[in-house]
Amino acid sequence: MLLHAMESMRFLDGAEAVEAERFTAEAVTVARRSPCEKSKRGVIIVSDSEVIGRGYNKPPADVPCVEEFCGLICRKYCVHAETNAVMDALRGGHELKGSRGYHIKVKGGAVRDSDDLSCVPCAALVLESGMGEFVLKHPRGFAVYGAREFYELSLDAFIRQKSSNGK
Ligand SMILES: [Zn+2]
Ligand SMILES: [Zn+2]
Repeated sequence: MLLHAMESMRFLDGAEAVEAERFTAEAVTVARRSPCEKSKRGVIIVSDSEVIGRGYNKPPADVPCVEEFCGLICRKYCVHAETNAVMDALRGGHELKGSRGYHIKVKGGAVRDSDDLSCVPCAALVLESGMGEFVLKHPRGFAVYGAREFYELSLDAFIRQKSSNGK
């Protein structure tokens, strides 16, 4: 059920790919601060080539990440990296409109590709915050999505996942 997805996802190349490498490396540094045992996520928000927000996934405030919960309900009880990055940008008084977000996943100590669009709340946040684009590290390179497209594809993936679960 694609609403009006523009299907404009493209892979970054040239100077944009070089920039993506740089900001993704920074996102990895941020992700490694995550206490989460399951997977560590880092998000960097960039506006006019300047980093305006940084975030990683963690339980709210000083709630500890409980190892036995992590695999099971981490996605529900952690504040996601996207949310923390948006809050960081807002706290810094930055304008999110037209900015570009970069997401990275670190699992088992290694940087992983993550082309699954599975977190609808984060995609909704990206769109609602005014961010213009969102970048994921795919096996084939850095994929950039328009914020609206990112939301609609995430919604679509979620609905497909739901229906294949027979729910
Ligand atoms: Zn966790
Ligand atoms: Zn999320």
